[in-house]
Amino acid sequence: MVKHCANPNCGKPLRYLREGRIFVFETKENDNGESIRRMEHFWLCGTCSKTLRLEMTNQGVQTVLKREVRTTTPIQHPLAS
Ligand SMILES: [Zn+2]
Repeated sequence: MVKHCANPNCGKPLRYLREGRIFVFETKENDNGESIRRMEHFWLCGTCSKTLRLEMTNQGVQTVLKREVRTTTPIQHPLAS
C-alpha cells in the first residue's frame, strides 16, 4: 500500500487518506516473459494535489502540473461577439 506522497520532491508520509488524492493505475509487470496486470495505488498529499496530478506515461507514473483553471476571468469565445 502507499506510504508516501508520490511527488519525489515531497515524500510526505501518508497518515490520513482523507487528505490529498489517491490515483489508481493499471501497471504491467514482466514476470518470466508473461506480462501481469496490476492495479497500483499512488497518493498525492493535500499540498501536492492542489497543483499536481499523476499520469501514467511510458516512463511510468509521473507528476504533471494541473492545468490552470481560471475562475475569475470568463473565457470569451472569439466568435461570440
Ligand atoms: Zn506531497
